[in-house]
Amino acid sequence: MSFNKELNRRRTFGIISHPDAGKTTLTEKLLLFGGAIQVAGAVKSNKIKRSATSDFMEIERQRGISVATSVMAFEYRNLKINILDTPGHQDFQEDTYRTLTAVDSVIVVIDVAKGVEAQTEKLVNVCRMRNTPIIVFINKLDREGLDGFDLLDELEQKLGLTVRPLSWPIGMGQRFKGVYSMYEQKLVLFRPHGKQEDEEDRIEINDLTDRQLDELVGEAAADELREEVHMVESVYPKFDREAYLKGELSPVFFGSAINNFGVRELLDCFVEVAPPPLGRVTEEREVKPNEDKFAGFVFKIHANMDPNHRDRIAFLRVCSGRFERNTNYLHVRQNRKMKFPNPTSFMAAKKTILEEAYPGDVVGLYDSGNFKIGDTLTEGEVLHFKGIPSFSPEQFRFVNNADPLKYKQLDKGLVQLMDEGVAQLFTKEDNNRKIIGTVGALQFEVIQYRLEHEYGAKCSYEPVNLHKACWVTCDDEKAMKEFIQRRKRDLARDKHGQLVYLAESAWSLQMAQENHPKVQFHFKSEF
Ligand code: GDP
Repeated sequence: MSFNKELNRRRTFGIISHPDAGKTTLTEKLLLFGGAIQVAGAVKSNKIKRSATSDFMEIERQRGISVATSVMAFEYRNLKINILDTPGHQDFQEDTYRTLTAVDSVIVVIDVAKGVEAQTEKLVNVCRMRNTPIIVFINKLDREGLDGFDLLDELEQKLGLTVRPLSWPIGMGQRFKGVYSMYEQKLVLFRPHGKQEDEEDRIEINDLTDRQLDELVGEAAADELREEVHMVESVYPKFDREAYLKGELSPVFFGSAINNFGVRELLDCFVEVAPPPLGRVTEEREVKPNEDKFAGFVFKIHANMDPNHRDRIAFLRVCSGRFERNTNYLHVRQNRKMKFPNPTSFMAAKKTILEEAYPGDVVGLYDSGNFKIGDTLTEGEVLHFKGIPSFSPEQFRFVNNADPLKYKQLDKGLVQLMDEGVAQLFTKEDNNRKIIGTVGALQFEVIQYRLEHEYGAKCSYEPVNLHKACWVTCDDEKAMKEFIQRRKRDLARDKHGQLVYLAESAWSLQMAQENHPKVQFHFKSEF
């Protein structure tokens, strides 16, 4: 197959949701359609549940699962579809944000009973910053939930999306009869009790005045559907693929993932409208997917579960050209050539060595500590991919060495864990003490546990009273000097040596901003 054919048949996307909305279930049903798995239950939830059993065991289990489910690829209607998994747990949000830099579109799953939840809001915000095309799937229609129109209002108000339903539910909960697909002009009947949706349940109805509709769902439900669909057609904009691709219009589908219902309609629309691999911006220039020369970036690094093989897997998104096994590529940050004898692809749960990969694909590279998140590989050109952010952390602790004989191990472990993006390390300017900043509290446990088990080092934590860490820059040298002199106690360096201001409270941050108007405070930095 030609390069362009391979390129154009790829679709790389992520599924995002608040925990429990049904992301794992939907992923599994999509994989079943693609034949990538044969049985339900093959996709394990990547959730960390805080339970009576040790959290550490849970973290280890989680890490194992999430390597296996980091990327799931399947074929459907001659397309190669890559689903990039995003952790649902809010303490791993940063992982999710970074994964979103590697997708070309997303599907957002919403629980019909709960509507838009906190986590959905945050994740959709990140997508909107990048104009990522979004399709919404409203799940669990087999349960009682919110009214369809109220949900659409929530999507518009809380998520700032302009929406366009492409399917519409007929009742819900006990009275759920199916959905009407406006996209395909088909009525799809719901058969509960685990019976799978099959061809005879999909009935073409081009005109909703058709009396057949009354026979199939009952007169009252048919009339309600007619009225609601009429309302949808008159209130919401027509579906327009260009607007969707620009991230300006989001189609909405209704269904029930666990019953595999409404999922096919979603997938069939997705494969028709979702974007093929898109270009990416670098500091130097825009990289287009159809360029001859290979370029890609690392968006995620995962430690290996197997204690005998402590190497890591760096996940690289191919952005242009063709990636090939055993070929020399330039590791731009280290300015040296590297080749990869065992690059890995992920077809569902199976890991296989791949010979080549195309834009939109994700390649797993075994790594013994050479990669950091954001690193670029090319055929020789110096490129730095942009838009892989590091967010201003919100939880802080002093980290101390708890075993004086193991300080080297501790240093090495901390550096490597920071490269993986587990947390951020700041070194205070006045006394060189080290502070770990994270987005979620669970990371502190992860770090302590992994330092001990992977690096043989012990650390202890001490509370530190901080509200936020933000990066500071200033064009005016004199003003910067004055700021540094006056605030020395509150300054630190991140791992790149960039200056960071540590604010004790929202008020002290505000005061610093007021007193030093020429200094700029940044709440995210790019790797
Ligand atoms: P995730 O946290 O978003 O990955 O959610 P899961 O896929 O693990 O689903 C959370 C729970 O909701 C599980 O108990 C699922 O069985 C259940 N669930 C998923 N889809 C549906 C659905 O369509 N209807 C109902 N009633 N339950 C569902």
